[in-house]
Amino acid sequence: MNKCHSCSSCGMPLQNPSDHALADETIPYCSHCTNKDGSLKSYEEVLEGTKGYFIDYQGLDPQAAQKMAENVLKKQPAWIKRRTQ
Ligand SMILES: [Zn+2]
Repeated sequence: MNKCHSCSSCGMPLQNPSDHALADETIPYCSHCTNKDGSLKSYEEVLEGTKGYFIDYQGLDPQAAQKMAENVLKKQPAWIKRRTQ
């Protein structure tokens, strides 16, 4: 299995098994993007979480964080086919 992968939803690097949802390496998503059962959250929930990350860790204002999060998510395999507005 390819060892150097990232979350197919938010793009976060998945370096350790514990970074994966349920610490299961066969799940291509991180724990932030999934529900307790390991299923992928909705786009809106993931967007909210990614936006919060940019605000908390990168100090962006909410508007900039929203744009940034949308830009990141639209390139990820989980959302690439999703049409925005
Ligand atoms: Zn993720």
